[in-house]
Amino acid sequence: MDATESTWNRLIEHETETALLGSIQSLLAWDERTGMPPKAADHRAEQISFLAGKIHARRTSPEIGEWLDELATSSMVADPHSDRGATIVQLKRDYDKHRKIPQRLVEELSRAEVLGQQAWVEARKASDYERFQPYLETNLRLRREQAEAVGYGKSPYDALIDDYEPGETADNLRRVLGGLRSALVPLISELGEAPAPPSDACLQGYFPVDRQQKIGKRAAKLIGFDFSRGRLDETAHPFCTEAGPHDHRILTRYNVNFFSQAFYGTLHEAGHGIYDQGLRPDQYGLPPGTFASLGIHESQSRLWENMVGRSRAFWEFLFDETRQLFPDSLSSVSLDHFHAAVNVVRPSLIRVEADEATYNLHIILRFELEEALVTGALAVADLPDAWNAKYEEYLGVTPPDHGDGVLQDVHWSAALFGYFPTYALGNLYAAHFFQSAEQELGDLSEQFRRGEFAPLRKWLTENIHRHGRCYSPAQLLERISGETLSHEPLLNYLQGKLRPLYGL
Ligand code: ZN
Repeated sequence: MDATESTWNRLIEHETETALLGSIQSLLAWDERTGMPPKAADHRAEQISFLAGKIHARRTSPEIGEWLDELATSSMVADPHSDRGATIVQLKRDYDKHRKIPQRLVEELSRAEVLGQQAWVEARKASDYERFQPYLETNLRLRREQAEAVGYGKSPYDALIDDYEPGETADNLRRVLGGLRSALVPLISELGEAPAPPSDACLQGYFPVDRQQKIGKRAAKLIGFDFSRGRLDETAHPFCTEAGPHDHRILTRYNVNFFSQAFYGTLHEAGHGIYDQGLRPDQYGLPPGTFASLGIHESQSRLWENMVGRSRAFWEFLFDETRQLFPDSLSSVSLDHFHAAVNVVRPSLIRVEADEATYNLHIILRFELEEALVTGALAVADLPDAWNAKYEEYLGVTPPDHGDGVLQDVHWSAALFGYFPTYALGNLYAAHFFQSAEQELGDLSEQFRRGEFAPLRKWLTENIHRHGRCYSPAQLLERISGETLSHEPLLNYLQGKLRPLYGL
């Protein structure tokens, strides 16, 4: 074996062991949020932070830097998109970035995240922005410092979003999200003035939890979530996690008086789970077996939740079964009525409760505000007024207080800046991907009507999942569609579906 080959083997062994520790950590975290006895919390926190320390030390260990420097000049990186090439290029990218952030800043940030979230919980309860303001100022100062340490092209915001969406920039987001906003604001007000808007009252009847579990599991299985490699449980804050290449766990939350919450929550998390299940198990823990970005991950959940799960064809297949399960609420409801109900658009104050169309505006205004905060164009003291003004301008609603306004999300309190746009990117990518899939697979509605979702799932696995991090999000999109990111596929999809449902 030559020297380079043995360096490669050392690197892979090291990364595989780090991934093993990571999967143990996520299993502990899953247990913490599902079935852990309350008094186990202290010991669990110790277990998790012990593992986190080990993982961090392994990721920043100087010997990896030496191995990566050697491998980066070898023939293995001749094709940076091959499994070996991508592994070396992406690990080196992460390593070099982490090494630029001083240890002192890493520690200050993790302390600020904890203190920020504690202060936020209290401030939100009391609807008291001023109580939260100094913590937000600290979080911003530390992230700006991070951006300076890591370096950036044009805007310090670019350095922050790069952690979630590699290669994305503030300029590009302004272009795409600005285009979406200009078209979406008038569309939503047009729907609001429609003479006979659909009603979603039928979704707010009585839906026994055991029956919701049954239909949710049925739908997740139908779209391709593999229950021999995964499970579905209940939690207060739904998410999706993995504890190994064949262990994918999705969580949802039930509301006995609202059908959409658990059903669409389950489809959404199943979409995330299907992405993870489509990654190559033999590359587990390595870049080719890791998701491409948060935006690409979100595109998979949104595609199944909205483009499939809110389509008429989907309900042509599943509505009879659903109606039989909930005779109290749905026996006199027609398919058309139900399909319109799950697509009702209604501007509202709270992001996590927003419908498919207005959701994007909640994200766009957060992006505009946080970018201005990071560059210093907006002072932290002026944030609540700027927040309220944008809600009025884009959605026509004004928060009654800061708790349901500027303090509603946890992200900024946890020093997450640059994270919000990935939610809107998910919708934008999903629309591009769905369009490309239809071009290649023919009329997908025809397949959905027959309950056939495997061709779409296989297409997604083939074109997206199995590439892991071998391509950047922009490269992945270019390979699939030949296009650069645009708001038009999403806008066309929303207009094409919503206008007829609102009689326009
Ligand atoms: Zn998601």
